[in-house]
This record gives sequence, C-alpha cells and structure tokens, in this order.
Amino acid sequence: MNDRQKNHQPVPLAQGLHIVAKPIGPACNLDCAYCFYLEKQALYGTGENYRMPDVVLATFIRSYVEAQPTPVVEFVWQGGEPTLLGIDFFRRVVELQAPFAANKTISNVLQTNGTLLDDAWCRFLKQHNFMVGVSLDGPREIHDRYRRDRQGNGSFDAVLRGLKLLQRHGVNYNVMASVARETARQALAVYRFFKEQGVEFIQFVPLIERLPGAGETQLGLNLAGPAALDREELNTTVTPWTVVPEEYGDFLIAIYEEWVRQDVGTTFVMNFEWALNAWIGNPSPVCIHARQCGRSLVIEHNGDIFPCDHCVYPHYRLGNILSDDLAGMVAKSARSGFGVDKENALPRWCRECEVLAACQGGCPKHRFAQSHYGEPGLHYLCAGYKKFFRHIRKYLRAMTTLLEHGVPVSEVMKAVKGPLVIRVADQEEAGAATDRRPV
Ligand code: SF4
Ligand code: SF4
Ligand code: SF4
Repeated sequence: MNDRQKNHQPVPLAQGLHIVAKPIGPACNLDCAYCFYLEKQALYGTGENYRMPDVVLATFIRSYVEAQPTPVVEFVWQGGEPTLLGIDFFRRVVELQAPFAANKTISNVLQTNGTLLDDAWCRFLKQHNFMVGVSLDGPREIHDRYRRDRQGNGSFDAVLRGLKLLQRHGVNYNVMASVARETARQALAVYRFFKEQGVEFIQFVPLIERLPGAGETQLGLNLAGPAALDREELNTTVTPWTVVPEEYGDFLIAIYEEWVRQDVGTTFVMNFEWALNAWIGNPSPVCIHARQCGRSLVIEHNGDIFPCDHCVYPHYRLGNILSDDLAGMVAKSARSGFGVDKENALPRWCRECEVLAACQGGCPKHRFAQSHYGEPGLHYLCAGYKKFFRHIRKYLRAMTTLLEHGVPVSEVMKAVKGPLVIRVADQEEAGAATDRRPV
C-alpha cells in the first residue's frame, strides 16, 4: 500500500454509479498512434475472442441496473471499436435492457470511430435513441496525423462519411476531439472546421501519455499507467504527441474567445460548459474535474471490472461480474488509490490554487509534475489549466449574472461586443482582490 491508498473510505452507492462497457475489449479496425488501449491486447493470450459473451452481457445489464440507486441508468459502449460487434449485438443489448425499462430510464451511448457506420446502423441508433460519440480530431491534415488504419491510411474520409450519415438520419451525436501537440497550435482551424461541419456538441480531450516504467514494460506495454499509483517507477518522459501544458491553455482560450463572441447557445463545447457549471457551484459532471473519482468503472469483454478506463491493468482488477458483487467492487474501487484519495493527495500548490474549484487537480493518471513547492503529484497540464480557468473568469462572472437575472446566457455575446464588456472588465478589475468565488 502506498501513501495514496491510505485514508480510504468506501463511497456509498447512493451517489450513483457509472460503468463504461468495452464489449469488444481493445480490438479495433484502426491503429491510432496515440491509442492507449490497443496495446492492452498484450495483456490477453493470443487467440483471445474479444467479444463479450451473452452470459456476461446479460449479467452486466441486470447487475448494473439493480445496483444503480438513481432513476436513470446510462450505458456507455466503448472500445476498441464497438461497431465491429455488428448491429445484432446491440439489438440483444436493447432486448436485455427492455424488462428494466418500466422502473428505470435507460439510455445508451455508443462511442465510435465512426468509420463503419452505414444507413442500417444509423436507422438502428435513431430507432433506439442512442447518443453517439464520434472521435474526430479536426480537419483532414490534423485528424490523419495520428488516426490511421493498419495500412497507414488516414481515416478522415471514412469518419466524415459516418458523421454525415448520423446527421442525415437525425441521430443524436457529439464529437470527441483529441488534442495532440500539433493540434493545440491550430485551435481556430479545428474549431471552425467543426462548426462548418454543423457539429453542435464538442468535447476536447488533451493527449497526455508517459513512456512506460519497468512494470508496464514487463507487461509488454509501451505507455505508462496512472501516475498517482506508479510513484515508485515514475517515468516523466512524455510521448511526442503529448500536448504542451501552456499550449493547451492557449488552445482553449483561443476557442473560447471566438465562442463567447459568436456561438454561445448554438455550439456547445463541453469543456466550457463544465467550467460554467463549476463557477455556479454545481458538482462536476466529468470525473477529471470532480473532487473524487472511483465511481466510473469499466467492464471488459470478459466481465472483468476495473476502477476506470485508465486502470485496465491486471493489478487493478477488482473482480468479475460473473462471480463478484458489483457494490463490493465499487467500494473496492474507491479504496484502490483513486476515489477520495484524488482529493486527499492534492499537493499544497493545488490546495492554495485560485481555480481549484474548477480544476480539482485533474486526473490522477496525469499527476506526474512537480509543484512550485517541489511537491510531487501535480497535474502535468497545471500551467494550461490555470491559464485557461483564470482567463475565462470574467466571462463566467458575466454569464452567472445573466443567469441570476433570468436572462439567456447567450446574451453574453452582446456584452462582449457592446458596452457591457467594459462594465464586466471593470468588475473584474475591481473585484479581483475581494471576490473569493472559486473559479
Ligand atoms: S479508434 Fe479508438 S480504440 Fe481504435 S485505435 Fe483509434 S483511439 Fe484506439
Ligand atoms: S483516474 Fe482519471 S479518468 Fe479515471 S475516474 Fe479518475 S479522473 Fe476519471
Ligand atoms: S490549476 Fe494547477 S494548481 Fe490549480 S488545481 Fe489545477 S493542477 Fe492544481
């Protein structure tokens, strides 16, 4: 047990539970250079059948619904590439969920690279009201830099075709865009591309990977696992595609500056929505900026359960859905070094930080930097997070004021362009010393 595994407390199930399903494990038709999941095939024997058996699927669906204390149960189907399983697999999913729909609201999210979508898929997804998350990093030259197939061909054309099909069929979708080192330097090209394509919901995910320590190398892996749990063998060398911290802050700021002038209420950048949410004082809807984690578990194709997507390593395995109690595994997850330890392990630099309420120190996987005080455990992106959250405070103040007066938040666009921008800026200057609101 290391320091980060002490002071644990089980998290009561009443808080709700989230499980991401990987029904095809790490199998995928693409070979993205930055993928941290494909290489997990090294953890399974050759000849492994990466397809969730029906008994595992049925047990998972029943256990997840029964363990969920909230009225809504959200199933997230992720990969690898889940569409490789074919539509019939998901027909079976819907069939198995149906008996529970009388007592719970059941929703489904499919996270896909989009390349295999066709009319039949889109009809199915529309009919059963799936929300589809499409991985698309930006225009061709940005997307194809890292997202290629096994022959080395870019996947941009196939993904865009899938996106257009979703739009044509009226399927609810959003875009998840990974931000690589080079991408961060082309913020507006990326953002404007998405707008031109009619994308309304976008989430940016900064790419951060370390080179492996001895433990990962022994397992046959080329990337490191969670820094918070690997302190003894911490290799802080990052991969070439890893974003530069300040540049990630600049990337978000450049997009925010355009968004706050033109697109509030029409384009939804989830990273900006989370920031406003934190400013208002609501709990974070996303684990990386939540005070604690440990409640977003992962189920593998064979029924194994892990604490989260970043912890799919043999030593973090919590049990198996066929043989272990789900509530017990959730409690074990909270004790596994994430959970409340995410908060307890915050370095002093974070505890004293003026934007802590929005940032919460970030994901423990990426806490491998040293703080200004020389402490370990600072998030790699600290400089970028801080720059971004500090920069947008004036806008968040203005939006909060609008909300308090029952005015649509999109009115902030007039304020930024018109006279109110001066008043907001004035308030920022005047209030900076005394306003203790957390963002
Ligand atoms: S599509 Fe996703 S799972 Fe497949 S290689 Fe790319 S990042 Fe990995
Ligand atoms: S370790 Fe990171 S990705 Fe996993 S649940 Fe915690 S914050 Fe989320
Ligand atoms: S911005 Fe930096 S110091 Fe502040 S909470 Fe985030 S990681 Fe910690």
